Amino acid sequence: MNLLFLFARRFIAGQTLDEALPVVEQLKEKGFGTTLDILGESVTNVSEAKAVAEEYCRVLRTLKERGLEANMSLKLTQLGLDISDNLCFDNVAKILIQAAKLGGFIRVDMEGSPYTQRTLDMVKRWHSIYPNVGTVVQAMLKRTPQDVEDLLEEKIGIRLCKGAYKEPEAVAFPDKRDVDSQYAQLMERLIASGIYHGIATHDEKIIDAVKKYAAQYNISRDKFEFQMLLGIRRDLQEQLVKDGWRVRLYVPYGNSWLPYTIRRMRERKENFWFVVKNFFRR
Ligand SMILES: Cc1cc2nc3c(=O)[nH]c(=O)nc-3n(C[C@H](O)[C@H](O)[C@H](O)COP(=O)(O)OP(=O)(O)OC[C@H]3O[C@@H](n4cnc5c(N)ncnc54)[C@H](O)[C@@H]3O)c2cc1C
Repeated sequence: MNLLFLFARRFIAGQTLDEALPVVEQLKEKGFGTTLDILGESVTNVSEAKAVAEEYCRVLRTLKERGLEANMSLKLTQLGLDISDNLCFDNVAKILIQAAKLGGFIRVDMEGSPYTQRTLDMVKRWHSIYPNVGTVVQAMLKRTPQDVEDLLEEKIGIRLCKGAYKEPEAVAFPDKRDVDSQYAQLMERLIASGIYHGIATHDEKIIDAVKKYAAQYNISRDKFEFQMLLGIRRDLQEQLVKDGWRVRLYVPYGNSWLPYTIRRMRERKENFWFVVKNFFRR
């Protein structure tokens, strides 16, 4: 576990809010936007899910007090989706009300495909009452072009990512080339939509395609943002900011770092081998 935590440290801002806040402050100084995530998912206990909602509200207030953006990302299974829709709805509504009071924004992350429809349905319900919420779509899923159209119809801000969960072939493209190609098409659809979205990737080819598309159709740099994960391609993140692009970093912190870390390991075989090699070195 210690070795895995050593690896995890690259991707997380710490285990406590006190550790995470200086990271957010430094990123702000460097010109990055941030979205803070309290790590956790698959909560099956009502009082725990309610406590997570309270914690999100507390952290939003702390961010504001420290002069930082009240922008956070959350997972619905962390807030009771596995227990009941109503519990989850009320928990997130509390957070959205708190965020609205502070001029903040909440992004609902997308989890595995068994949750896609429920997540989208809930986000549409919240958005009709609290407009300071957006969600995420995954280019790997075959259904995503239709989901994007439905969200755009409601003018909901989208974070476009490739998708980090292992999915069956029935619902997702098994070949990375198909995922990348669908990503590129959806990216164009989003940037041209006139609604503010996040293009979340570290893929240089896609980032270049975004720049070209924006230049070709005269879409100004304040109409969308790039989004990346803390600890991945720092060079690219800093270069984009230097070049005058908007970049928001996803900054996770907390004790429940294992599932997040495993997703980061699975994304890149070098990460897996880093852990294995260091294990045998000990
Ligand atoms: C801001 C943000 C929020 C996200 N939110 C969600 C979400 O809600 N739901 C969801 O399913 N997924 C989410 N993801 C993860 C996403 O789906 C991908 O799994 C992840 O971003 C890797 O895909 P990529 O677009 O970077 O492209 P890839 O083709 O996988 O990678 C491109 C390049 O990025 C670098 N890279 C990518 N991943 C790693 C890594 N783990 N370690 C080291 N280098 C790496 C490598 O240089 C690689 O060549 C999010 C990603 C970002 C950036």
